[in-house]
Amino acid sequence: MSHHIHIHPAVDDGVRPGRDDFAGGTLRCHCPDDKVEVTVEAQCAHNHVCGCTRCWKPEGALFSMVAVVPRDKLKVTANEDKLEVVDPSAAIQRHACKGCGVHMFGRIENTEHPFHGLDFIHTELSDDSGWAAPEFAAFVSSIIESGTNPDDMSAVRARLKELGLEPYDCLSPPLMDAIATHTAKAKGVL
Ligand SMILES: [Zn+2]
Ligand SMILES: [Zn+2]
Repeated sequence: MSHHIHIHPAVDDGVRPGRDDFAGGTLRCHCPDDKVEVTVEAQCAHNHVCGCTRCWKPEGALFSMVAVVPRDKLKVTANEDKLEVVDPSAAIQRHACKGCGVHMFGRIENTEHPFHGLDFIHTELSDDSGWAAPEFAAFVSSIIESGTNPDDMSAVRARLKELGLEPYDCLSPPLMDAIATHTAKAKGVL
C-alpha cells in the first residue's frame, strides 16, 4: 500500500522481533576503516523510531531508530579520538564520528534529567541480531521540520500503524509518565 514511504531501513520490510536472551553487541561507525567501535553489554530498552530533527538518520529515511541502554554498560572500545559532541548545549550529548558523521551514542550529563543514566544508541550500527525491536514512533509530526510535506502525514501515520509502530507526536505514554513522575518527585508533589 504505502510502501514507497521509507520509514527506516530496519523496519521497511517489517519489524523483526528481538531475542529474549540477547545481552548486547558491538556498534561500528560507517567509516571504511579505523571505525569507531562501541561495545554494549546489555539488551536495549524502549527502542523506537524517532522523527525529531536531532537524532541521526540513515540516508533516505524519514525516521531515526533509537533505543536506550544503561550508561555503565556502554564503552567506546576503538578509535575514541574520532568522536566529537555534535551540540554541547543539547540535553543529550550526541557523540558523532568526525569521519562519517554517524552518531555512536548520546549521553545525558545533567544528573537532574529524567533519563540520566541512560545512553541512546542506534542498534542498526551493530551486525549482531537480537536487539529488542522498535515498539512505537515518537515525534512523528517533527518530520515536517525536516521537509516532509504535511499532506503526506496521514499516509506516514497509516504506514507506521501498519508496521505496528503506534505514532505519537511526543514520546509514548509510559515514557511521558516517567518524565512527569520524575518532575513531580523533584517538586515534592509525589
Ligand atoms: Zn566513522
Ligand atoms: Zn529523535
